Order: sequence, then structure tokens, then C-alpha cells
Amino acid sequence: MYYGFDVGGTKIEFGAFNDDLERVATERMPTPGDDYQALLLTLSSLIKKYDQQFNTKGSIGIGIPGMESVDDGAVLTSNVPAAKGQFLRADLEALVDRPVKVANDANCFALSEAWDEEHQGQEGVLGLILGTGFGGGIVINGHVVSGRSHVAGELGHTRMPLDAWLYLQNSSSDKEAPLFGCGCDKQGCIDNYLSGRGFEQLYEHYYGERIAAIELIKQQAAGEPKAVEHVERFMELLAICFGNIFTAFDPNVVVLGGGLSNYDLIYSEMPKRIPKHLLSIGKMPKILKAKHGDSGGVRGAAFLNIEC
Ligand SMILES: [Zn+2]
Repeated sequence: MYYGFDVGGTKIEFGAFNDDLERVATERMPTPGDDYQALLLTLSSLIKKYDQQFNTKGSIGIGIPGMESVDDGAVLTSNVPAAKGQFLRADLEALVDRPVKVANDANCFALSEAWDEEHQGQEGVLGLILGTGFGGGIVINGHVVSGRSHVAGELGHTRMPLDAWLYLQNSSSDKEAPLFGCGCDKQGCIDNYLSGRGFEQLYEHYYGERIAAIELIKQQAAGEPKAVEHVERFMELLAICFGNIFTAFDPNVVVLGGGLSNYDLIYSEMPKRIPKHLLSIGKMPKILKAKHGDSGGVRGAAFLNIEC
């Protein structure tokens, strides 16, 4: 039995999955503010409850918006005050007497999709999240690749490729390309361009007005000229950046999540636009919308323990 926890800023979701990776239990509860002991109690009580119910000792994976320090295992997160700086893995292991895995929630998202029936057996699955920010997770042969410092897959904090920058420079006769600052203190991170926030920020830069992404998408569909020009610019920018990312990882499948991933135009435009930005021998991966939506975090957390 695989247990997964998706620990977010406001709620904790628990899921239990059987050996066929089917979900057999679900619970949701609020995240206990900044009370670490309450968080530990919440997690350990659920584990003990379902151990008893299924008469087993389930394996445990936890997805968090953050990561573990590779130096001492302390949780690095700004979104879950109850877990911030705590030795969550070690403390929970002591309470429930078995190993616990902790991973970044974007990695869990990617892992969940990689274990979807349709993609099992694919060597490389890349999960990309076009949400408030832009992030990702890399899964190779069913396992998350998190890297030396647990930052592998943090693609939002790679800087914009030169060809994307030159494209933006040449895309307007009266506006320079915008050099957006980033929360990580660098400039030009693609997080600020390819995310839902980036989509709105780019429009604001070129047309002087902040309009919600959903409204811009409606305006584009209605043929409003500025929105049409904006979406054309965004799609090409996305294609150039994806082309660079795909050259680095050469994935078999790319799964998109986050609010902007519901924009269907992306799935018809990318296959047309990306090939010219790849190496000539590079093959296009399949680009698909995530199937598991909000439950991706808890599925992926549970699947951290699949042996393969
Ligand atoms: Zn950044």
C-alpha cells in the first residue's frame, strides 16, 4: 500500500493507493497554521488509522511546496509555516517506524503523470507547470531526478534563452523586450514570462494595461487585435523556451499542468512551432494536458516509493 500526503499552505490531502496504483482512500484536512507538533500528529494519526484499516504498513511519501535541505534534511519552504525549518522526515520516521520520503510538489506532479497507465514504460517524462509561476519535474524511468541540491526541474529559474530574448526585442516596433526581476533575486528567469502571471505581465508591458489571463484568452478568441498579437507573441516565446528545454532533456512525453495549461491553443500551436527550435535530429515529444489535476500531488507523493 502506498500512502501519499500533499501538504500545502492551507490543506493537507491524504491518499492511499493499492498495488495496482488505484486510489482506495482519501482524506482532506486544514494544514495546522504554524504548529509543527499538530502537523506531525495529523500525519502520524492518518498513517496509523489506515495501517489498521488495511492491516498493513504502508509506505509514505510527502509532497511539499519546497524541498529538503541536502545538508541536514530541514524543510525549506515559505508556504507551509508549520513545516518550515523542521526535520519533518526524521521526526515522522521516528513516530511511525518506517522510512519517509519528502519531495517537491512539482516533482510529485510529474511523477503522478509518469505513472499514468498511458505513460508507464516511457523513459523520460517532463512535467511542466504553467501556473502562478513556471516550474517542473523530471522523471526518468519512473523515478524523480531531483539533483545534487534538490533543485533539478526548477526550470522557472533558468534565464530566458538568447533566441527568445531576440524574438521579444524584434516583436514590437516601439517597445524593448522587458527584463523582469524574479523572486530569486535574478533577472530574466522564465518563471516571469511563461507563467500565468508572466502572460499578464507581458501584455501589460506591451499594451500598458493589466488584464486577467482568462479575459485575454477570451479577447483573443473574439479577434481583439491587441490580444491576438499578444497571444501570437506568447506562443512563439513558449515554443522557443520549450525548444531549449526539450533539447536539454529530450523527453518522450511532456505533461502540462497549472491554470494556463487549460489553454487549448497551446496543444495545437506547440507541435507546429517547436520543431524549428530543436536540433535537426531532435524529435518532438508528445505534449499533453495533465490528467490527474489537483490529485497529482498526492498521487506523486505516494508513488515516490514505487520500486522499479
Ligand atoms: Zn528566478
